[in-house]
Amino acid sequence: MSNPPWLERALPCVQGLSPYVPGKPIEELERELGIQGAIKLASNENPLGPSPAALEAMRAHVGKVHLYPDGNGHALKSALAAALGVGIDQITLGNGSNDVLDLIARAYLGEGRGAVFSEHAFAVYPISTQAVGGIAQWARALPADHPHQPYGHDLRAMRASVDARTRVVFLANPNNPTGTWLEKDELHAFIAALPEHVLVVVDEAYIEFVDEDSDFPNAMAWLDEFPNLVVTRTFSKIHGLAGLRVGYAVSHPRVADMLNRVRQPFNANLLALEAARAALGDPGHVRRTRELNRAGLRQVRTGVAALGLKALPSLGNFICVDMGRPARPVYDGLLRQGVIVRPVANYGMPHHLRVSMGTEAENARFLVALDHVLDGVK
Ligand SMILES: *Cc1c(COP(=O)(O)O)cnc(C)c1O
Repeated sequence: MSNPPWLERALPCVQGLSPYVPGKPIEELERELGIQGAIKLASNENPLGPSPAALEAMRAHVGKVHLYPDGNGHALKSALAAALGVGIDQITLGNGSNDVLDLIARAYLGEGRGAVFSEHAFAVYPISTQAVGGIAQWARALPADHPHQPYGHDLRAMRASVDARTRVVFLANPNNPTGTWLEKDELHAFIAALPEHVLVVVDEAYIEFVDEDSDFPNAMAWLDEFPNLVVTRTFSKIHGLAGLRVGYAVSHPRVADMLNRVRQPFNANLLALEAARAALGDPGHVRRTRELNRAGLRQVRTGVAALGLKALPSLGNFICVDMGRPARPVYDGLLRQGVIVRPVANYGMPHHLRVSMGTEAENARFLVALDHVLDGVK
């Protein structure tokens, strides 16, 4: 094949992008190794699967996919508004919350405009920012600033990175891939200290895994106080609908209006809208998932400690384990055992692996495989 300069012809901001690296699919590993029965603990998926109510809703509507979905997503937005105590006009639906992050970038970022995020933050923030020509303003953490949660968001470094170019700040709470989190007072003070023209996006993809009666900050409660606040959530994680792609932002109605202007007319698909609404009406599935996750975190944390390894504190449905050596050979060894986890070297954490919580049996299998692999990789 000839080799025309399609790289050079792309927009400069696209030339500089590093693509997102997803968890390795089970089928791919099984094909490569000629094995069966591999397990994947690499993408923070729900080990219980989707809510049965969501499955039922999809079955009931699958015969209607020749029709366009409701482009306004009215039924799902109404249900969300009622559940969250916000106005319908504050909600923006997306093809996953990833889509909503992109909408924010398209509406508020671009050449000469920057977004601030922590160096260990979710990889999508720099991609969304740079894809529209915006400036990625990485805040490098000072380890001494976070003695209780190394690799956590360093709010002092983030605040110091905000300059005249900054239009957006992205932060996830709890964060992925670290699992670390910000406390109520520090997060509130951070938002309050930002210039009012800077949009602050609090990504709460994992908030439903946090104990409901804890003092964890629910940024949704601060929307009236901070008109520059956007809270994003997703049906991919605790609701187990990652494959359907549906998430949302809640913001000031004016911000929602801007996001709506750059949104594709039918960005949330018909089955996703129905399944998400049904999932919202199934708190039992959420509760069972949360309880299974809590037990899984205990099981894996205890298990890795027994192997002499340390893990970061986590309030998500995953845990970052310090292998105490370069993690890549451990990752490869686990693959050969049919266990897929997630390397996080691209997050500046070459000694860690991120492990999603599975069923009790899957977690146990990971721990056995890890023990085996560590014996061979000294
Ligand atoms: C998984 C995840 C999301 C959600 O992605 P979807 O596009 O909704 O599937 C958003 N933010 C973070 C930090 C995540 O880990």
